[in-house]
Amino acid sequence: MRPIQMVDLTTQYERIQTPMDKAVLEVIHSGKYINGDAVQAFTNELSEYINVKYVIPCANGTDALQLAMMALDLQPGDEVIVPAFTYVATAEAAALLKLTPVLVDVDPRTFNINVDKIEEAITPQTKAIVPVHLFGQTADMEPLMQIARKHGLYVIEDNAQSIGSVYTFSDGTKKQAGTIGDIGTLSFFPTKNLGGYGDGGALLTNNEALARKLKMIAAHGQSQKYTHEMIGCNSRLDTLQAAILRTKLPQLPSYMEARQKTAEKYDAGLKSLPDLLEIPYCLPYSTHVYHQYTLKVKPEQRAGLQSYLKEKGIPAMIYYPLPLHHQPAFKNIVRIGNDLSETENLCKSVLSLPMHTELDDEQTQFIISQIRNYE
Ligand SMILES: *Cc1c(COP(=O)(O)O)cnc(C)c1O
Repeated sequence: MRPIQMVDLTTQYERIQTPMDKAVLEVIHSGKYINGDAVQAFTNELSEYINVKYVIPCANGTDALQLAMMALDLQPGDEVIVPAFTYVATAEAAALLKLTPVLVDVDPRTFNINVDKIEEAITPQTKAIVPVHLFGQTADMEPLMQIARKHGLYVIEDNAQSIGSVYTFSDGTKKQAGTIGDIGTLSFFPTKNLGGYGDGGALLTNNEALARKLKMIAAHGQSQKYTHEMIGCNSRLDTLQAAILRTKLPQLPSYMEARQKTAEKYDAGLKSLPDLLEIPYCLPYSTHVYHQYTLKVKPEQRAGLQSYLKEKGIPAMIYYPLPLHHQPAFKNIVRIGNDLSETENLCKSVLSLPMHTELDDEQTQFIISQIRNYE
């Protein structure tokens, strides 16, 4: 059996080595390392794949969040509602712009923002909601958009983890995660479901004026060369990363399927261990693209199970061990929108198993059998 890794990017590369090497060498030979042809080509192909009018490439997923908040003219002191259980970048982008992240508790079944708890956290200062589509499923966007419209709030979807996930509205309409709110953000960090070989990110929007502004802000606020309309940043997806992502994009459906197949096996093998753990809950309104396969383990058993698995050569990770409101950098600047006990509980119980496109049946069955043998 091959050693089990949390992610296995080199084996994935070996399977597409010929077209990948060609794409990378082409860029090197072209000499156009910034804004080369692959950037526009990737942008066009991604907008078609995701079914969104405008894709604005940028340097990483954290920048994407910051650019979105800048383009919406959020001002120091404005409040931005974010889930308390998320990666730090969601709140960090807001904090950098001197906005106040307001933490709302999550639904313990889905790990996503609890939409029923958003309204009680809204104040006259609230300007935006930033749902995070965590671990591979979309937040409950239909009622979330209704709340946003009712209170005149912008919606930025942090879709770093759930590219390709599809949300179904109550009338049957389907939309890709990241294309429902005003702006969606993506990360192409190597371990994300569509990952480059370095940093990368993008913004998604169907609003032409916002698209133009986002593009300008990402390029030093420049409307034309050396005319700067507004204060912007330097946030680009470089040509090499675009060429790499372009080569991987056609594989995304098969990558998603590989993750879903592995998840099915995990589900079947682990669902009958209620004294130890709970398998992920699958939502009726969202497909699951399994950025992570995250168990909820009895808190008193988690450390033991994790170190037992480590002894067996099985890595398992805790995403996320410390909620934002306990982080040294954030505890004094966030506002706690409501009781965060579900977030607190999740931080004590979550455990993510190896999940990637190259996990084979032998490895998956080994992981399952070792967990089943755990006393
Ligand atoms: C990865 C991630 C980001 C940040 O993306 P980078 O490309 O690493 O800057 C933001 N939000 C979430 C939820 C993420 O998982």
